[in-house]
Amino acid sequence: MAHKQTAAERKAEFMAAAAQMYEQLEAWYAAHPDASFGEIEAEARRRRRELMGSTLATLINGRDTGYQAPPPKCAQCGQVMGFEGYRRWGVSGLEGDTTLARAYYVCPQCQGQTFFPPGPEAAAAE
Ligand SMILES: [Zn+2]
Repeated sequence: MAHKQTAAERKAEFMAAAAQMYEQLEAWYAAHPDASFGEIEAEARRRRRELMGSTLATLINGRDTGYQAPPPKCAQCGQVMGFEGYRRWGVSGLEGDTTLARAYYVCPQCQGQTFFPPGPEAAAAE
């Protein structure tokens, strides 16, 4: 998700992902009725990691991707910069893997003059 979402939209996205995780566990357990507690826990742990990763992406990306309207001006020449899209990158956290997104601007005048709005995502990627 690269576009900005309201808190209610982010919550709905999380609730849908959590519900999907539970349904996947139900389906897995139905297919493995003789699974031990440890095997069930291992499956739940794997899916929890996926859910944690997507939850953090929803929480962070949906709040602020650095997109600015009107767009920022070039620090070098002062011309309005062009929005080039969203740059995405993966962050491997302790509890999950998350794909973060950040708006990316380029000056049409200056060669290679770019702007990547600072934010929690930028800090997380370093
Ligand atoms: Zn410029």
